[in-house]
Amino acid sequence: MDTVKASNETEAFLKTIQDKNPHEPEFLQAVQEVAQDVLPYIEAHARYRQARILERLAEPDRIVIFRVCWIDDQGNYRINRGYRVQMNNALGPYKGGLRFHPSVNLSILKFLAFEQVFKNALTGLPLGGGKGGSDFDPKGKSDNEVMRFCQSFMTELFRHIGPDTDVPAGDIGVGAREVGYLFGQYKRLRNEFSGVLTGKGIEYSGSFIRPEATGYGCVYMLEEMLRTRQEQLKGKKVVISGSGNVAQYAAEKIMQLGGRVVALSDSDGFIHDPDGLDTEKFKYLLWLKNEQRGRIAAYARQFGCGYYPGKKPWAVPCDIAIPCATQNELNGDDARTLTDNGCIAVVEGANMPCTPEAVEWFLQKKILYAPGKASNAGGVAVSGLEMSQNSLRLRWTREEVDERLRSIMRQIHETCLRFGRMEDGSVNYVKGANIGGFVRVADAMLAQGLV
Ligand code: NDP
Repeated sequence: MDTVKASNETEAFLKTIQDKNPHEPEFLQAVQEVAQDVLPYIEAHARYRQARILERLAEPDRIVIFRVCWIDDQGNYRINRGYRVQMNNALGPYKGGLRFHPSVNLSILKFLAFEQVFKNALTGLPLGGGKGGSDFDPKGKSDNEVMRFCQSFMTELFRHIGPDTDVPAGDIGVGAREVGYLFGQYKRLRNEFSGVLTGKGIEYSGSFIRPEATGYGCVYMLEEMLRTRQEQLKGKKVVISGSGNVAQYAAEKIMQLGGRVVALSDSDGFIHDPDGLDTEKFKYLLWLKNEQRGRIAAYARQFGCGYYPGKKPWAVPCDIAIPCATQNELNGDDARTLTDNGCIAVVEGANMPCTPEAVEWFLQKKILYAPGKASNAGGVAVSGLEMSQNSLRLRWTREEVDERLRSIMRQIHETCLRFGRMEDGSVNYVKGANIGGFVRVADAMLAQGLV
């Protein structure tokens, strides 16, 4: 298919999606990024085209929006909005996290749910795609307030989910504490102890390695990518954004494999620690962020390194960058700064952290660049393994789960090579992930007829 025709088709498709979904910039951004790779592929494969697979994938199966009322510690009535986007279940029950953050809106959740469908397909596991959450901000709330909110949220959500229907997990603002409260309320309402949520505590049917999975998986993917260029992690300087779940365990694995993590951040600023993270500092980081729920600035005070309020970490010279905070946190200027400083690889821990301009720049520069739907799929992969263990009513060892995670990340890397190899021998991981994920979902949809 010639490129002019391909770009006309893409434009016409995107115009339809835009007209149907006005005021949803993040969702349109995610669809556009997939469409530019997938539409030319569809054009060359008539069966997908006739069945209008991409149009169907861009229309959620259903969306539930609901009121969440709760009472704060001062006795005030508080009202938030809850959501669940059930995007596509061609491959298995809807699966995807819940995000609690004041910025949450329908556009953001639809983009995340759309990405999730492709990501889950890439894992090779029987998982559909969904996403949900609320504009509730757990920051600064007491444990009791968070518990009351979670219970109220689940009091509506429970009727829409189930271990064979839709299995939520954590995301920004939803960690072990929130998953525990949500699970407790589901169990009470249904009188049923089942694998309805993943990311559960190890003491009540969670899986080993689930907290670590997204971050570890990212680094396993990075290792595979570096290998294609006869490079290795040992001795490389790494900048990570965020300091939450994904950032923490990406940092730990980098450290274990001999890399040097020199920067971490949160929404207030970043720390620059030229000596790099070590075991003692890592322990402190976990305590600070997960137990104290403190700010990253405290790390700089504790270890006497630089702290830069209100700034992002991308100007710190590094070999590798791993954005692990949020969408659109790394723009075109940041991308140019990174490559000017010699960065050779960018691996997304967060979902869509690089703007389209940044992605374009990395592809043009032919550095190693992995989109989140491939590189952060380790989290949902181990969630899939948690579901299997719950169904089997047994628990695999840490080593077993870690080995399965490694093998899934290796397989995702291979899928990217298979569909993303360019004529000059380089690999376009964006294209590889988009087409690789699409083919698996599309074939299942074709087999199941027009539903
Ligand atoms: P956490 O809530 O544990 O941590 C989020 C981190 O990002 C915090 O350091 C937070 O800082 C920072 N952050 C959040 N929003 C912003 C913002 N608007 N600007 C700057 N910094 C921000 O979340 P996770 O680590 O779980 O998730 C991080 C990313 O990874 C998200 O994009 C998520 O969708 C993605 N992801 C997560 C998976 C998982 O298994 N948890 C799986 C796959 C993807 P602060 O504390 O100041 O808010």
